[in-house]
Amino acid sequence: MSASQHQNLAIIGHVDHGKSTLVGRLLYETGSIPEHVIEQHREEAEEKGKGGFEFAYVMDNLAEERERGVTIDIAHQEFSTDEYDFTIVDTPGHRDFVKNMITGASQADHAVLVVAADDGVAPQTQEHVFLARTLGIDELIVAVNKMDVVDYEESTYDEVVEEVTQLLNQVQFNTEDASFIPVSAFEGDNVADVSDNTPWYEGETVLEALNTLPEPEPPTDAPLRLPIQDVYTISGIGTVPVGRIETGVMNTGDTVSFQPSDVGGEVKTIEMHHEEVPKAEPGDNVGFNVRGIGKDDIRRGDVCGPADDPPSVAETFQAQIVVMQHPSVITAGYTPVFHAHTAQVACTIESIDQKIDSSSGEVAEEDPDFIQSGDAAVVTIRPQKPLSIEPSSEIPELGSFAIRDMGQTIAAGKVLEVNE
Ligand code: GDP
Repeated sequence: MSASQHQNLAIIGHVDHGKSTLVGRLLYETGSIPEHVIEQHREEAEEKGKGGFEFAYVMDNLAEERERGVTIDIAHQEFSTDEYDFTIVDTPGHRDFVKNMITGASQADHAVLVVAADDGVAPQTQEHVFLARTLGIDELIVAVNKMDVVDYEESTYDEVVEEVTQLLNQVQFNTEDASFIPVSAFEGDNVADVSDNTPWYEGETVLEALNTLPEPEPPTDAPLRLPIQDVYTISGIGTVPVGRIETGVMNTGDTVSFQPSDVGGEVKTIEMHHEEVPKAEPGDNVGFNVRGIGKDDIRRGDVCGPADDPPSVAETFQAQIVVMQHPSVITAGYTPVFHAHTAQVACTIESIDQKIDSSSGEVAEEDPDFIQSGDAAVVTIRPQKPLSIEPSSEIPELGSFAIRDMGQTIAAGKVLEVNE
């Protein structure tokens, strides 16, 4: 069995609803936790005179390692089903979860929403669903977790499904693209194997649902967009910008343009994994050389695209943002640092145009004086230095950003319109 296509998976949901436990269970059931780690837990448990269940040891150990701030090899969090190789895009509960979800090299293709059966929809359930919607995730697996705590009652499951369906409808999520599964991540019900505890349920297990997700489409048809990560000078070759192709393809001989530096030329060579290649595609990390471009002509944060369809440079842009955490209020004139692809640029929020009701997605207030944590809004933004950015409807990969201030991510957003 060789899994092939790659999927980035986000695990979202309210704190304590069981995200880490579900991840642990998925890793455990797919054989992604190395045997020596399980063996070590088994020995430790035997020494302590605890008998029984090895999954519990794995979770204890994961929790202890997390508390000590150590990353261990089971925290790579990758597992394979028959169809796909999955990477969990971030450690659930991680402080920078939101930022990484938006700007990380690994944007999520799909998400699993964990909702505890004994608690139902909670504040972060709502927040994460809205965020997932904003970021363009349109396929959800809903794990109604902790079914063991509610005695595997069908009626409780139905109530939670009803509540989550309402929430999805509110944010205009297509509920036909959501699958609901009664789960106990801790006991393992309906994760890898069909559970005898839920005879009233005839649908898929979590692993089956993951297996039947649609394949992510490689964005090869979009124009080339290659955010520059670094610029090197290599003797014998010259200036070598490096970065990851987000969309489109690059061929030797193509004429390209770097924005906002506004220089360009013909691609002479492309290198990948220390080998010259004639062509590179989305997801490829490349170094390349462009005729006539010197080290000081371009910089990190530039985006490389075709000369006849260059990346746009924003004089101002309109965006929808979600304020995650800000100690006070955000008003017009606020100038935090925006992180978009490889660029970090101070930008001024020039006007707050609309406050959006984050549960319905409808306009709640025109021209509000301020916004604060938990609010969603449409704002107009003026970069303080030239910034290449794209409407997320055209090039999603280059249309989202995080706003950072005081050492943390305070908001996330997507670009609606660019005024060049
Ligand atoms: P997270 O904050 O969403 O990552 O939640 P955790 O995975 O850390 O789980 C929170 C608590 O709920 C822990 O004590 C888990 O052992 C417990 N838990 C998680 N899933 C289940 C479940 O399916 N059944 C039961 N009984 N407890 C669970």
